[in-house]
Amino acid sequence: MHCPLPITSQRNVLCVFPDYTPSFGTFSHAYRLLPRVRAFMPPQGLLVIAAYLPPKWPVRFVDENIALASAADFDWADVVLVSGMHIQAPQIHDIARRAKLAGKIIVLGGPSVSGAPELYPEFDCLHIGEIGDATDRLIACLDHGVTPPPTQMRFETSERLPLRDFPLPAYNLIRLDRYLMSSLQFSSGCPYRCEFCDIPALYGRQPRLKTPEQITAELDAILAQPGYPSWMYFVDDNFIGNRKAAREMLPHLIDWQRKHGYPLQFACEATLNLAKQTEILALMCKAQFLTVFVGIETPESDALKAMRKEHNVALPMMEAIGTLNRYGLEVTSGIILGLDTDTADTEVHLKTFIDLSQIPVLTINLLQALPRTPLWDRLKRDGRLIDDDAGLESNVRFLRPYAEVVAAWQRCIAYAYDPARLFARFAHQVDVTYAHRMHAPVRGRLTTRNLRKALVLGFNVVLWIGLLSNYRRAFWRAAGYALRRGQIDAALGMGLVAYHLIKFSREALRGEQNASFYSTHARAT
Ligand code: SF4
Repeated sequence: MHCPLPITSQRNVLCVFPDYTPSFGTFSHAYRLLPRVRAFMPPQGLLVIAAYLPPKWPVRFVDENIALASAADFDWADVVLVSGMHIQAPQIHDIARRAKLAGKIIVLGGPSVSGAPELYPEFDCLHIGEIGDATDRLIACLDHGVTPPPTQMRFETSERLPLRDFPLPAYNLIRLDRYLMSSLQFSSGCPYRCEFCDIPALYGRQPRLKTPEQITAELDAILAQPGYPSWMYFVDDNFIGNRKAAREMLPHLIDWQRKHGYPLQFACEATLNLAKQTEILALMCKAQFLTVFVGIETPESDALKAMRKEHNVALPMMEAIGTLNRYGLEVTSGIILGLDTDTADTEVHLKTFIDLSQIPVLTINLLQALPRTPLWDRLKRDGRLIDDDAGLESNVRFLRPYAEVVAAWQRCIAYAYDPARLFARFAHQVDVTYAHRMHAPVRGRLTTRNLRKALVLGFNVVLWIGLLSNYRRAFWRAAGYALRRGQIDAALGMGLVAYHLIKFSREALRGEQNASFYSTHARAT
């Protein structure tokens, strides 16, 4: 639905999404291996806001991961809308500076400002919280006038728009072929209360849901776009936050895939106790879910209990990972170092976990305290929060010496992304995971664009990894193993992903990348 308010003025709205700071999980180095790809995923939140604006307001959408908003864009606009996460804070400030120079009213919404509005004094209007009554009040205010107000105005949502009333994201305003993956949201919120996580405070503990019909309508809209990526990421905070709803939605997804010849392959985020939901896992396998990101955080069960992530120890960790693999799901794992429970042995425990779990992709970050989390409140009480501008790798005063924590992080990423180890873990997936995936018909993916994309990717993987890299032997050992079993997709996929991970970890070890994905401090790179 659009904003239901009667509108009297016409406003040109420029939506600007800030550049991401690169991280293990954005795969930014891999874009060059694919034709046209310049960014990770379309920004769902800002696309939904763009679609909700009054229909008679023209909207321009600029994702600065692809190209910067130009002077002409700012000149054209009456209003500049920006959204972003904490990690994009430096870039958000930069957009504000450019919009101010152009003399435009600037509005900021999204997760970062919703968690920490005090970080953004330069914005004229702040939209705090999700789309809802605040959005309507903001639109009414902009309809009334677009002269920057003398003091900052805040619009805070108290009544959220139900997800079932969310408009179709404005995919028509972007080019999906510029993205590595497309994105989709089924639910919002998570029932758990992990100490470091801001999701429950920002989006609630009672997951709110779209209808299956909304999901298939969004898939239709994506499929109608030329060059849509065949990878699609469910950006839900926890895909099984409401298990019953996930169980009921999945058959619709399977039907849609069947009807269109399986054009898409899915990934999502979920808690490790997904392993206990074998009915859901069987449905996910049939729907072509191939990857699941799990916040494993640490292999140490005391640490999990301390951070209130007991659901990760609900069943033995390796057994749970093995179960997910048997349903064709490659597990990607989030890991945190710098926890209060870390000891001198944590590094060894993590390396052992990497070897035993055989998880290829691990996003290993230093603990960062986010506003609106129990962790933030506790550390603030204890005087253990450090200013982000201090130039350190985290805003947490660790219990262990800072230099030791950072050095352990460096040794762990060096260990995890040593090419021989990384490709050995990929090779392990060939039998334990990839072989269990459902062999779906490829009719839906046999498009000219996809074939061209596969050829370009194949050429680049062979050239840059198979011939020119200093880890080509390790690559061919794993890729050859997959190819001998007919897994061409897997061989190309491991080349693509490893290329980013190895390059990124080498940069991080040279100090050119942040040690925390959530850090707001800027790197020169
Ligand atoms: S399970 Fe994940 S989304 Fe839910 S509170 Fe914990 S970290 Fe956040």
